[in-house]
Amino acid sequence: MKTVIIGIDLGGTNTQGAAATLDGVIIRQSKIATRARLGSDTVIEDLAKLILDLAKGQPIKAVGLGVPGLLDLNAGNCRFSCNLGWQDVPIAGDLSRRIDAPVYIDNDVRAAALGEWSRGRAQGCNDFIYLSVGTGIGSGIVIDGRLLRGPGWSAGEVGHMVLDPLGPACACGNRGCLETLASATAIAREGRAAAAANPSSLLNELAAEQDLDSALVFRAAARGDAAAGQVVDTAMAWLGQGIANLVTIFNPSLVVIGGGVSLAGEQVLAPVRAQIARYTMPVQREMAQVAVSALADRAGVAGALELARRERF
Ligand SMILES: [Zn+2]
Repeated sequence: MKTVIIGIDLGGTNTQGAAATLDGVIIRQSKIATRARLGSDTVIEDLAKLILDLAKGQPIKAVGLGVPGLLDLNAGNCRFSCNLGWQDVPIAGDLSRRIDAPVYIDNDVRAAALGEWSRGRAQGCNDFIYLSVGTGIGSGIVIDGRLLRGPGWSAGEVGHMVLDPLGPACACGNRGCLETLASATAIAREGRAAAAANPSSLLNELAAEQDLDSALVFRAAARGDAAAGQVVDTAMAWLGQGIANLVTIFNPSLVVIGGGVSLAGEQVLAPVRAQIARYTMPVQREMAQVAVSALADRAGVAGALELARRERF
């Protein structure tokens, strides 16, 4: 029986996992619903079952686990997770005891950054910022070949960078955080308002047939709908401004945009590049390439496998 490593991307809605050989070649994958409403014990029990199913009786060398929240990596604790409704859950230890293998946790977006670094768009790059633009906005910042951590393990929480103090209220208690202005949630919220205010728009017409999410707003904008175009332009201008600030501070050679919003491709890249050109200094903007994720929603699992492979965070 060959030894395997397991990578898990724990999400607020779904959890993805993969078993791989010791050099990271994926041999099995699986996805389950996250039963966050039933509490942390249920979620951890489900994770243990998923891991044992993925291993299929093969010995497990280590498990890497991406968790959506603020963590204490030394203690293996999730200190706070809005998505899961957790406060101080000793997830690494609890899970490790259930499966009898070491568990290495990391913030889900920092794990996805590791995934892009090891297997995706940022391979070979020692200075890049990975941003996940989805339900919220988070990042993993790699500078001089090191993933930045901070003493509270919370470096990279760029979604709560305040850009508009008079803007929409954020779950963190502030107003106008980047994620209240440019996340998929924000685009859908503004899209719903625009559809209601413009009953004859294509956006409103499409919204009658399907759920109005950020993808639908991008689609309507691509088809020339003015109401949707306005929503996209405003959100992408904020996203680009936030990213330009990061380029000014960190001087990355690459910005990788992942998460659901990145699926809109050029509709995201073009305005972000324009804002970088507008707000950063020549040395910075000349070297700051911008690209969408190569791994899309598989970046988290790829990074979790990398945590397991390296046996550290
Ligand atoms: Zn916030």
